[in-house]
Amino acid sequence: MNEADKKWLAAHVSADVLFDEPMRRYTTFRIGGPVDALVTVKTEQELKDTIVWARDKGHPIMILGAGSNLLVRDGGVRGLVFKLADEFEEIRLVTRVNSSRTVITAGAAVLVRLLGKFALDQGLAGLNFTLGIPGSLGGATRMNAGAWGGCMADCISSIRVLNRYGDIVNMNRDQLRFSYRGLDLEKGTIILSSRFKLDYTDRGALQKEAIRMQKERRLTQPLSLPSAGSVFRNPSGQKAAGELIDQAGLKGLRVGEAEVSTKHANFIVNKGHAKASDVLELIRQIQEAVFKRYSVNLEPEVIVIGQEKSS
Ligand SMILES: Cc1cc2nc3c(=O)[nH]c(=O)nc-3n(C[C@H](O)[C@H](O)[C@H](O)COP(=O)(O)OP(=O)(O)OC[C@H]3O[C@@H](n4cnc5c(N)ncnc54)[C@H](O)[C@@H]3O)c2cc1C
Repeated sequence: MNEADKKWLAAHVSADVLFDEPMRRYTTFRIGGPVDALVTVKTEQELKDTIVWARDKGHPIMILGAGSNLLVRDGGVRGLVFKLADEFEEIRLVTRVNSSRTVITAGAAVLVRLLGKFALDQGLAGLNFTLGIPGSLGGATRMNAGAWGGCMADCISSIRVLNRYGDIVNMNRDQLRFSYRGLDLEKGTIILSSRFKLDYTDRGALQKEAIRMQKERRLTQPLSLPSAGSVFRNPSGQKAAGELIDQAGLKGLRVGEAEVSTKHANFIVNKGHAKASDVLELIRQIQEAVFKRYSVNLEPEVIVIGQEKSS
């Protein structure tokens, strides 16, 4: 990115534009090299204008959520990474359909656990599964995040997106192709907000369920260390990825300061200053060992972006 481009960004974006900003500050793994420009936008219009400019200039773009499913390589990211703020952080009760059902809509930057808490406080069922997930609504929608048998696909009624042609459009549930930990969107599509139709239920029962879920998470997941949650997707028709890794004897396996968690084998934790290259090598070793033992190909759930660091 040249100086003129940097000047344009600094002059046209109302919030922060940070150049050569280390991505490790924005990922739950605490790993990642510098991005050319980390651009925070506060409104849909600002996002749209900046994207149109970036595409025109040929700069690659990417949307960052809460960085909880990302592994950013050590060489960092070329182009612009967008962070959504302000207008994208609102939760709204839109309409009460009838005495038992209501519609809520929330911006892509809302943390799903806060959305889950909002629904819980209102006595609305269906979002309790989000309570322990550290992602944003945009990231959770894109990943079809899920837990405890629930997932985003079960409760989203529509989404609002900025498509690759620069138009803002609504997509209803029947247009959304969700899959296990994924939503198939045309490349370049940005989720602006998601809408839910939720039913009122007994708040006390929801609260009890929420406490049980959070207790179970604390017992089974290494929440005090940086990670990106489950590293691998669960292979279909097989044991869970964590079980396969555990039974292959890989808990505690280490490359540099990246380690297969001793608490949950499908988590890789950063024990200090792990590099993306350490995590990627550990992923390779796990895949090799599990394939040797079970002939199962473990596919990463974590999204890997950026460039390798040139030596
Ligand atoms: C401790 C821990 C526990 C976890 N537990 C779970 C769990 O129980 N279930 C589960 O499913 N996941 C879990 N995760 C993984 C992660 O929280 C989810 O995948 C989450 O949905 C990712 O959201 P994010 O905002 O962090 O996305 P990011 O990691 O920031 O991004 C993920 C992808 O989504 C894209 N994206 C983000 N925002 C948008 C947008 N507005 N429009 C278009 N694309 C966008 C990004 O470009 C990227 O490709 C866990 C992670 C951690 C660290």
